[in-house]
Amino acid sequence: MTKPTTTNTGIPVESDNESLTAGTQGPILLHDHYLIEKLAQFNRERVPERIVHAKGAGAYGELVVTHDVSKYTKAKLFQPGARTESLARFSTVAGEQGSPDTWRDPRGFAVKFYTEDGNYDLVGNNTPIFFIKDPIKFPDFIRSQKRLPGNGLRDHNMQWDFWTLRPETAHQVTWLMGDRGIPKTYRHMNGYGSHTYQWINAAGERFWVKYHFKTDQGIEYLTQADADRIAGEDADYHRKDLWEAIERREFPSWTVYVQVMPVAEAEGYRFNPFDLTKVWSHKDYPLIEVGKWTLNRNPRNYFVDIEQAAFEPSNVVPGIGFSPDKMLLGRVFAYADAHRYRIGTNYAQLPPNQARAAEVNSYSKEGAMRYHYNEPNVPVYAPNSFGGPHADPRQAPDGGIWDFDPTIVRAGYIQHAEDGDFTQAGTLVREVLDDAQRERLVRNIVGHVLGGVREPVLSRVFEYWKNVDADLGKRVEEGVRAGLDGGARS
Ligand code: NDP
Repeated sequence: MTKPTTTNTGIPVESDNESLTAGTQGPILLHDHYLIEKLAQFNRERVPERIVHAKGAGAYGELVVTHDVSKYTKAKLFQPGARTESLARFSTVAGEQGSPDTWRDPRGFAVKFYTEDGNYDLVGNNTPIFFIKDPIKFPDFIRSQKRLPGNGLRDHNMQWDFWTLRPETAHQVTWLMGDRGIPKTYRHMNGYGSHTYQWINAAGERFWVKYHFKTDQGIEYLTQADADRIAGEDADYHRKDLWEAIERREFPSWTVYVQVMPVAEAEGYRFNPFDLTKVWSHKDYPLIEVGKWTLNRNPRNYFVDIEQAAFEPSNVVPGIGFSPDKMLLGRVFAYADAHRYRIGTNYAQLPPNQARAAEVNSYSKEGAMRYHYNEPNVPVYAPNSFGGPHADPRQAPDGGIWDFDPTIVRAGYIQHAEDGDFTQAGTLVREVLDDAQRERLVRNIVGHVLGGVREPVLSRVFEYWKNVDADLGKRVEEGVRAGLDGGARS
């Protein structure tokens, strides 16, 4: 026998067919409280969507450490043989909740590790770099990639206006317009911590590190034509692929590596190692293997486990810390702030965000939707004389410090020998891509620019690409002018 339907408070419900009315043709009565509950609940089913990374997919899994990196970090999750439960959320950046998965965009690659020392979040992307290097530019950047306020449309002219006025975007835009700008699936892309982080070993020595998650499925991409077609046929293509692969028990995995830079080498490195628009060359800092990260469990409820998942770069555990990367420092504030607004002040109590391998002993109390509380005899202030928890610097994360010139300034990054907005973008074009990849890059740029870029932005687009690479810039200009002429004739 099926169970009786009840209200939210367990009272059996009379009907899901008819509302209560005064006679068969009279008004609906306000004291049909079940109808009111049903409609009111429905109106409140959505939380605000994320300002960025609104459309995503996710799953649970685990990290297994296969190699010994303990000389670089004492973090428990990276000790040899450690196994740590994990949650992942992949996403596009600019599109809204229902937007097609196959639009050209970087992909979010957010990972949560439920460690014995509390949750550690690595909130990365499928790209090792980013468009900008200072968080004060972030709202401007995102607005330029979203919708015009007047007509509510996305606008390529606005996108290129921002990119060309901020040439530090060149490396990331080159990457984005290339093959990796549309991964075949979430399983077929790498993940990168992107920022420079700090690792601290048991002896207190500090290192700068970058994380690389290399897909074991191999890198695969979609052409623009295939992506456009799939966008119409199946907007949830990537979400579905991840779900179905895990249901088939084809668990996707990534091999985790780090690049490690001794702190003393940072000042003399040819690129500023804290600039998020730059990579550290593999030749200078080879990848060091850490372990295997596998996704093996689908969420039981998408809203609860993935939509409510809250990743925040401020979640670092002992043995891991921050760096002078200003984008990272901006995000350390912004993510927790976004969660407080989006899913409420007590978001850390929600199932995907709760600590699972660590005990929570915080003095936080009350606020909307609070349901965890301290025992009645535990005081809610510190210090206290009644056995409440006390802060212990010997156990706390020690990555919030580094040496710097304490003068307060508004200044750009210190320029290192080979820094420059176009240097690494040019290396990517000339030394990494082959002829076929360069040809697709030109075609992708030309197609995107022909999607509505006008003067004076258009001339700056040609200059921008000539600065990345003279030949590439020439081919982009020729392609766009031919397209415009063709457009004018037709
Ligand atoms: P390497 O030749 O050692 O590395 C080149 C890397 O480029 C590859 O390892 C691969 O990264 C990545 N790559 C390959 N094809 C593409 C593509 N179509 N689009 C984007 N990236 C691709 O040289 P360096 O380390 O000295 O870097 C040279 C250039 O490579 C950089 O300027 C940067 O643009 C790019 N790059 C470098 C990365 C790094 O961390 N050093 C990472 C990604 C790109 P992967 O192994 O991560 O798949």
